[in-house]
Amino acid sequence: MQVPAPFEYRRVSTVDEAVALLYRLGDTARLVAGGHSLLPMMKLRLANFEYLIDINELHDELGYVRAEPGLIRIGAMTRHRELRESAELAAAFPVFGDAERVIADPLVRNRGTLGGSLCQADPSEDLSAVCTTLDASCVIHGMDGERVVSMEDFHRGPYETAVGDAEILTEVRFPVRPRGSSAYETVERRAGDWAVVSAGAAVWLDEAGLIADARVGLAAVGPHTAGIPGIAEALRGQRPAEELWARAGDIAAEACDPVTDRRGSAAYKRHLARELTMRVLRRSVARIDAHIGGHIDGQEV
Ligand SMILES: Cc1cc2nc3c(=O)[nH]c(=O)nc-3n(C[C@H](O)[C@H](O)[C@H](O)COP(=O)(O)OP(=O)(O)OC[C@H]3O[C@@H](n4cnc5c(N)ncnc54)[C@H](O)[C@@H]3O)c2cc1C
Repeated sequence: MQVPAPFEYRRVSTVDEAVALLYRLGDTARLVAGGHSLLPMMKLRLANFEYLIDINELHDELGYVRAEPGLIRIGAMTRHRELRESAELAAAFPVFGDAERVIADPLVRNRGTLGGSLCQADPSEDLSAVCTTLDASCVIHGMDGERVVSMEDFHRGPYETAVGDAEILTEVRFPVRPRGSSAYETVERRAGDWAVVSAGAAVWLDEAGLIADARVGLAAVGPHTAGIPGIAEALRGQRPAEELWARAGDIAAEACDPVTDRRGSAAYKRHLARELTMRVLRRSVARIDAHIGGHIDGQEV
């Protein structure tokens, strides 16, 4: 049935108002941001709530990309389109632009938000993999103020997060480190579809050109988009090289936990995890080289 069960609708205009209402209504209420994940689930009766609290008026308060020394802050109500258009993000984290090019379609990207993407906690969600890749942390606001949770602790499992009943995700923070770049690739069955498998990578080099740190985040190959610490351990202190990407690809294939479904067999997804991990690591380093060497020569790396 494509019609949701009846629900009461409330609209709030401040974070504090949203939290107070959530506190009063308890788990009978749900926030609605872009609505592109929640409403389809309600229409299919996979989710039913007595109250929907519309937070779109919070876009003035929570729709931003702010660059500070060593940190980029993104408000939870920032929409996919705004992420894609942000010059600050394109400069600091090209992984965002790569991912936003493949997420859904313009209709979804005009309304869907960063906060909604992370709080939906769908294991295939591309922005969750991006945030994991970039070692982001999430700011959660509740009755007692604010707390900050790492991406590793934010996702508790499929469709489960660290956000409590009377809490709202307000901001996502990204550390900016020197000599770093990032990339994202996905394999999808057709344009705009959810990923069969996606991979994000971020690499930082030291002054000698060795890998200071590297992170990989995979989507659609496990219960959530957690990073793979084994890859950082294998790459740190090494000089970028094809054999290294192959080793990281093997680690990714081993660490992930895909299931066979209509998008592909578990074996095929493992193969994609390996191949995409290699590609995004290679591309991240090529981007650092292009940036440091200053010879982009008009080509998108
Ligand atoms: C046709 C279609 C194709 C899509 N394809 C892709 C794709 O290829 N890749 C991809 O990654 N995504 C895809 N999506 C999902 C899309 O990115 C959604 O926008 C996103 O998942 C949810 O964002 P939203 O703002 O719409 O969240 P909503 O649907 O409004 O909310 C989702 C959940 O998050 C909660 N929530 C929202 N904001 C907050 C907050 N600030 N604090 C606490 N809880 C909050 C809600 O209560 C709800 O439980 C697709 C969606 C559609 C409809």
